[in-house]
Amino acid sequence: MGSTKRTLIKNGTIVTATDTYAADVWIEGETIAAITLQGMDLGTADVVIDAAGKFILPGGIDAHTHLDMPFGGTTSSDDFETGTLAAAHGGTTTIVDFAIQTKGQGMRQGLDAWHEKAEGKAAIDYGFHMIATDINDATVDEMKGIVASGVTSFKLFMAYPGVLYCDDGQIFRAMQKARDLGALICMHAENGIAIDVLVKQAVEAGHTAPKYHSLSRPQIAEAEGTHRAIALAEMAGAPVYIVHLSASRALEKVVEARDRGIPAYAETCPQYLFCSFDDLARDDFEGAKYVCTPPLRPKEMQDDLWRGLRTNDLQVVSTDHCPFCMKGQKELGRDNFTKIPNGMPGIETRLYLLWDGGVRAGRISMNRFVEITSAAPAKLFGLFGKKGTVAVGADADLLVWDGDKEHVLSEKTLHMRVDYSPFEGRVVRGAPTHVLSRGRVVIEDGRYLGKKGDGSFLRRGTFSM
Ligand SMILES: [Zn+2]
Repeated sequence: MGSTKRTLIKNGTIVTATDTYAADVWIEGETIAAITLQGMDLGTADVVIDAAGKFILPGGIDAHTHLDMPFGGTTSSDDFETGTLAAAHGGTTTIVDFAIQTKGQGMRQGLDAWHEKAEGKAAIDYGFHMIATDINDATVDEMKGIVASGVTSFKLFMAYPGVLYCDDGQIFRAMQKARDLGALICMHAENGIAIDVLVKQAVEAGHTAPKYHSLSRPQIAEAEGTHRAIALAEMAGAPVYIVHLSASRALEKVVEARDRGIPAYAETCPQYLFCSFDDLARDDFEGAKYVCTPPLRPKEMQDDLWRGLRTNDLQVVSTDHCPFCMKGQKELGRDNFTKIPNGMPGIETRLYLLWDGGVRAGRISMNRFVEITSAAPAKLFGLFGKKGTVAVGADADLLVWDGDKEHVLSEKTLHMRVDYSPFEGRVVRGAPTHVLSRGRVVIEDGRYLGKKGDGSFLRRGTFSM
């Protein structure tokens, strides 16, 4: 075994998307080298972690983050250093962030810019999706090279006309190309053209409080976009992944397509499972903390999203982490909700909330928890085998998880660079005692032991589900 560092995690219970069993995990360097019956002697280890009474889970994969992202004249408050550090604290060991093509420029320039933002800063491994804002002959041709460089998914917007929006013809062309390349199209599915009319009318009527952000983006606009995205994908013969699905009627469109055997996939986010329109309607501009897009919905819809997660109509929970501070950022929209930067912090709290409010609350099993937070995103985004499971040959991205550990979610105790928590004061159970990223212990009992730049860019495989 030479001088490769050897780590043993003993006495724990491994939980993957399919199995739960007592075993020891032996790590050589960055890789899981053996999984043995508890107590089997494979020699000495340099590091021994006792996981008695705890679970050994694959590290979380957050397939939807926006670090260091310009929006509405400001920039999301976490960069690749602070955001990935916070992710690690919360048990996420891989993120897939969004590189953005600027209208009028090539995709490659956008991708290069995001590589520069991330290079040498990340605490954990990261990949990129490519946000395509300008689909034409030249940029469709560029997609092949983008995929070859390990960026195997593209995100398109039906919302934000004039900024990120693509029309149906552009979307359809990109989908045809994605089909040929084995790439996956991720869709922000909202009818942004109609929404912009409603937004303008709301402001003209003097409806400027944060809650009008939701009232001007009704669920039918999301349902229509979801239906149209799936229809275009079906026409193109391409798979499609609906990002941040928030609404019951949008979910119905996904269910209808999946029941017909169409390869339509969707994620939801913790904010849609744990927050609601009531938060957005809070007094004194508090609602600004909850402005994200699609907007928070009536509380009743949460049950539908949970059901979708149980029945696999929803496959993934990602965060859409896109934090903005109240001070200097959210307050830009104090007199006009359209000026409130859209986004909420969440990169650190996803596993906490889903374990406490999902597994412990009896809504999902431990195995389903692993599936929606790690295995399914790994499979959909070309990382499975290396990431997303506990298996011999996989990267040793592992959590030693204390399912009972009680802690309080608070701006003071969390590590995201943002001046509030949407869950301030919420008591949850379940947290990692150890977080390993490619064999290195990066978090131990809440202390960060890694260093910036430990995380590497992940070249992802093509779509193969
Ligand atoms: Zn997003």
